[in-house]
Amino acid sequence: MLDQGRIDALRAEPVAAQGHLIDGAVVAASDGQVMDTTSPIDGQGLTTLARGTTEDMDRAVAAARAAFADGRWSRQPPAARKAVLLKWAELIEAEALALAVLGVRENGTEIGMAFKAEAGSAAGTIRYYAEAIDKRYGEIAPTADNVLGLVHHEPVGVVGAIVPWNFPLMIGAWKLAPALAAGNSVVLKPAETASLTLLRVAGLALEAGLPPGVLNVVTGEGPVVGEAMGLSMGVDVLAFTGSGGTGRRLLGYAARSNLKRCYLELGGKSPNVVFADAPDLGLAAKVSAAGIFRNSGQVCVAASRLLVEDSIHDAFVEALCKAADGFTVGDPLSLDTQIGAVHSERQLAQNLRFVQQAEEEGAQRLCGGARILTETGGTYMAPTVIAGVKPEANLAQNEVFGPVLAVTSFKSEEEAVALANGTDYGLSSGVWTGDLSRAHRMIRAIRAGVVHVNTYGGSDLTVPLGGVGQSGNGSDKSLHAMAKYENLKTAWIQL
Ligand code: ADP
Repeated sequence: MLDQGRIDALRAEPVAAQGHLIDGAVVAASDGQVMDTTSPIDGQGLTTLARGTTEDMDRAVAAARAAFADGRWSRQPPAARKAVLLKWAELIEAEALALAVLGVRENGTEIGMAFKAEAGSAAGTIRYYAEAIDKRYGEIAPTADNVLGLVHHEPVGVVGAIVPWNFPLMIGAWKLAPALAAGNSVVLKPAETASLTLLRVAGLALEAGLPPGVLNVVTGEGPVVGEAMGLSMGVDVLAFTGSGGTGRRLLGYAARSNLKRCYLELGGKSPNVVFADAPDLGLAAKVSAAGIFRNSGQVCVAASRLLVEDSIHDAFVEALCKAADGFTVGDPLSLDTQIGAVHSERQLAQNLRFVQQAEEEGAQRLCGGARILTETGGTYMAPTVIAGVKPEANLAQNEVFGPVLAVTSFKSEEEAVALANGTDYGLSSGVWTGDLSRAHRMIRAIRAGVVHVNTYGGSDLTVPLGGVGQSGNGSDKSLHAMAKYENLKTAWIQL
């Protein structure tokens, strides 16, 4: 059980100035520069981070490369690597609440969700891949009798991970855990505005026995240290979650340097399709509202487009607005809060621009649409529902990454499929229907990495999460993710 008193005590703790973690040591930027971090809860400064330089990134990559080459991790016996990762998960869990509160102070997610989805899930992810280390086998190929074909899984070398600010620990662990489990070294570049928990967790990895240099963290600006990572000749794989624009740049960096592999998870404009024959429309309205409004819509798989059958449109949208208005928005460190802060002034301004443009284009704002709680000094926005959004509108085509739902109605299953597939994205989706055949038809027809049926947003580590189209490539989670951080090597032996 989360305890408000404990949370309040943790939120009052000062946060020390941070450096990079390179080769097992905490170090300042090569030129001594720092950058301020601000809390979206109240707009107040939290601490400073090292403002990384290209030289810092190069040092971190060199440390990771040296660690990989001498085998201090990559050639440890599987059982030894597994023990270290399990210990790491244990240390993270022991600090889960402190990590969650620290993360919330930096990114504004409400504490209940941060506790589960951040520290808790990171520990679970590390444990999952730790357990996989000594349970996966190579292959013997079905060759003719006079040869032996062996297929080895080998670590690739140095993995560069670039992660966003919305769920830094969860998404960070989705990349770090399989990469380290496979025996690679890693350099991690957290988001400028969500670095603190990842720095702490990387420190815990050292305590757990991960050798120095195997996991390095370089903080700083994307266009500086992220670019240096992308252009580095010493990075073999880039694992990225973030915006499409940055994803494109990463592909460019890879093309201009060493053709490193790039796995991109780039967000979406996920359709949530509600048919009139859904088994429980009340539940559908509640879950659909949570699917877009939790974490202020700052979720890559957010159900940001509601496609609803014409015959139930008015009643459904009314239930949805009731659910939207029913959320308690406010201080993310209060246990009474259901939706915390919007991450930044920049993000909030972007959300409001989308709303304004949609209204100017003739769509109807049914609830929300404004900044609230300005007296706190923080960045908060009311859950917003906009109906009558045309399929070609900016709000229907582009990711807001905020608590703004675009509603469009449809008359037939065929039209629903066309609308659902009518963007460049293809990350998540939902279908609500009581007709089993229709559910399966929709699963096949929707172009997306995930199709939820009669629910939205549920998942666990056993299933992959990844996008198609301009939502990216290469899934996080599940055993399939290991393949991103491994090479296949064939041994062909003449007998
Ligand atoms: P968002 O708009 O959600 O912040 P970004 O794609 O800008 O999405 O950020 C995701 C991550 O990508 C962050 O860690 C950020 O620092 C990093 N990043 C931003 N720009 C670049 C860049 N030019 N090269 C490499 N990484 C970048």
